[in-house]
Amino acid sequence: MTKCPNMSKCRLLERLAVAEPRRAAETKRAYCQTCHSICARYLLDHELGQERTPADIQPGDLVRAMEIIERSPWRASGPLAQSGAHPN
Ligand code: SF4
Repeated sequence: MTKCPNMSKCRLLERLAVAEPRRAAETKRAYCQTCHSICARYLLDHELGQERTPADIQPGDLVRAMEIIERSPWRASGPLAQSGAHPN
């Protein structure tokens, strides 16, 4: 078990900490401190960059995350990445 490297800058956790602290604690237990590799936000942040991760994506939105990654020209194997324009 490794902690998510995005914990200190995760926009979802920041919002939940203010608006829904109990849910923030549950999210940390379920994903951030245990299984970040299956978090939809982590996958999007890692693949496309945090600035391209939709604000409303929840950790359990894996199907939606995979669809976004598949369609994005910014994914690691996408045309923009192939052109050298990928910012990551
Ligand atoms: S596991 Fe997901 S929700 Fe938790 S800090 Fe990482 S990106 Fe954010």
